[in-house]
Order: sequence, then C-alpha cells, then structure tokens
Amino acid sequence: MEAKNKLRMTKQRQVILEELRKVKTHPTADDMYQMLRRKMPKISLGTVYRNLEILSESGMIQKLDVGGTQKRFDADISIHSHVRCIDCGRVGDIDVKPHCNLEAEAQKMTDFEIFRHRLEFTGRCPLCQQMRKTTA
Ligand code: ZN
Ligand code: MN
Repeated sequence: MEAKNKLRMTKQRQVILEELRKVKTHPTADDMYQMLRRKMPKISLGTVYRNLEILSESGMIQKLDVGGTQKRFDADISIHSHVRCIDCGRVGDIDVKPHCNLEAEAQKMTDFEIFRHRLEFTGRCPLCQQMRKTTA
C-alpha cells in the first residue's frame, strides 16, 4: 500500500486523472476505459480499475458509493451531494452539503465511531423525463 503523501504519478495515472477531470458524468471504470482507449490503445480495464482505486485511496479523486451496481468516480473532491436517476443510472451533482451536526447526533446513539455520512438523492434525469413524456 502506498503512503498518501508519496503517490507515484505514473504516466497512465496522470492521464486517467486528467481524463476524469474533464467530465462531470461520474464515470464507472468501464466508462473510463472506453474514454481512455482512444488515447492509450494498449491500456487494460484492470489497469484503469486499479489506478482509479489508488487515486481514490490517495484522496485525489472520490469514489461514489451511490446505489447501483458499479462504482463511479468523481474528480471533484469538494463536499457535494449526488442525485441518481432511477431509470438510467445517470449521476448528477447537487450542491447540498451534508448536514454537519448529523455525525454528532448519530454518535450519541451508537458505540460505532462515526466518521461521516453520505446523502444520496434519487430521481429522474431530464432525458428520462422526456422519454416518458414521448412514450406515454
Ligand atoms: Zn435517466
Ligand atoms: Mn460529483
């Protein structure tokens, strides 16, 4: 395991980070692989996956554990919330800060040591709203 303060920035890792910073789509490792293949035809899905995990462990990106089957990644490490479309799985940003007192409230009620909580909104994205209107 690499120490947080001395993460080696390999060429591949640098490119993965740059590509992730270009998008607001919260891509999965698979999505990133498709994006990166154009630039780095020899890169493997395993390499993409491993580097995304390393980058998120180092705190340079965040891993979203919003509902759904595949992990998503976000180069925006500021504190913000996410909304997930229940129809297509698309994930958007919402600039709502998780309520600061909630950890303290929760701590009073458990023996667990509380670190943080996550707030996930679910809803329907504009494209899927449109889809329902036109197929209704
Ligand atoms: Zn949708
Ligand atoms: Mn985000």
